[in-house]
Amino acid sequence: MCLTIPAKVLSVEDPHSDVPLKRITIRDSKGERLITALLPDLKAGDWVLYASDMAVTKIGEDDAREILDLLEPKSQIDLSQLDSAFLGILRACHTRELKREEIIRLLGTEDKTETDALFSEANTIRQANLKDFFCIHGIVEFSNQCIRNCFYCGLRRESKDVCRYRMTPDEIVSSVDDAVTRRGYKLIVLQSGDDFSYTDDMLAGIIRRIKERCKVFIFMSVGERGLESYKRMKDAGASGVLFRFETSNKAIYDSIHPGQSYEDRIAHLRGMKEMGYYIATGFLIGLPGQTVADIADDIRTLKTIGANMVTVGPFIPCNGTPMYSHPAGSAAMTLKVTAVARLLMPRAKIPVTTALETIESEEGRRLGLSSGANSLMFNLTPERHRVDYRIYPNKYHGKEEVWEKYGLFKEGLSYKMLEKKMFEAFEAQG
Ligand code: SAH
Repeated sequence: MCLTIPAKVLSVEDPHSDVPLKRITIRDSKGERLITALLPDLKAGDWVLYASDMAVTKIGEDDAREILDLLEPKSQIDLSQLDSAFLGILRACHTRELKREEIIRLLGTEDKTETDALFSEANTIRQANLKDFFCIHGIVEFSNQCIRNCFYCGLRRESKDVCRYRMTPDEIVSSVDDAVTRRGYKLIVLQSGDDFSYTDDMLAGIIRRIKERCKVFIFMSVGERGLESYKRMKDAGASGVLFRFETSNKAIYDSIHPGQSYEDRIAHLRGMKEMGYYIATGFLIGLPGQTVADIADDIRTLKTIGANMVTVGPFIPCNGTPMYSHPAGSAAMTLKVTAVARLLMPRAKIPVTTALETIESEEGRRLGLSSGANSLMFNLTPERHRVDYRIYPNKYHGKEEVWEKYGLFKEGLSYKMLEKKMFEAFEAQG
């Protein structure tokens, strides 16, 4: 479901007539405009959410202010203060691919005016390409068992103090069903550790049962199972994968993923892309030895892989793992990466990741959404398991009320819109 920026109603034409469709004048950050409304009893002073020149929902003033505070960027940038080379790069992204050195220059800045200009440019590009829709998707973490031993992850095989769980296929199907039919979600990620006790048959069966019951896009995030397994899941009805390459620096990748290889990771992604999966991928910020140039290469890798959704988050140290004393990745760098990814991929879905919210809380969410990100991922894992899906500690669970209360297009229309967008994404990439 989606949320859009609220506007205040200034006047309603012919308020007492019986005609259900009314013309109203509204004001938002872009000024005053005339739109239509199909809402009974609307009057001057009310607040509405609107889309495509149609007011769709009336909304309380306090909620409107809460949404505005979250979604509207605060600062106005004085471009005359900006270094001309930096400004040149921001302009160049509209007409050509940015070069590696240019991406490094953008990511390397610590100057306040420059970062504000970068965020503002990314926000403008997001708005021009994706309008004012911010969408929320859900994630169900259905098993925390894992055969891998990634150095950073709290669920690694050797983590001893994890209370392990597995949801049954019935539990998984009914969690998704509830999220779709009762709460209005249209895109759900099913995530787990690399847990082979779920056979290909079981995963395909779960996907098939969900697709029979509800209109929802299913994204699988179940790790390295081989392409045959992903083919089975695709045939059963999965639309996408959430599968990060973690870092594009092979030496770093191999040093923190014992028993795995960078080549295998990338081969999975390439194969999934060829199969027609919608690709959600990305990387971690703050890995040992990672430089700004590595991060620039990570961003370029998103493009070469053909990512449709970008998921980038800071590393967060987790006790009981080999990387416990390694410092957390930087929130500032995560925001710069979000913005640069938006410059390079104007139409991609870029969610604010939970890891950024965890180190920056609500402010991280707000900053992410005004620096190029356009969606959020809410945790739909059943309450009793949430604390145990501990890839890192103190995972953020944010304020979701306002989104679920006013989420637009909870019905079939939203599914159709998403379907169209995914189709366009594939078309655009040929
Ligand atoms: N087994 C699946 C899902 C892995 S968990 C797979 O291999 O794709 C999902 C993501 O959590 C990982 O891709 C990783 O980027 C992230 N993650 C794991 N540990 C983390 C940590 N300590 N800090 C931040 N992100 C972490």
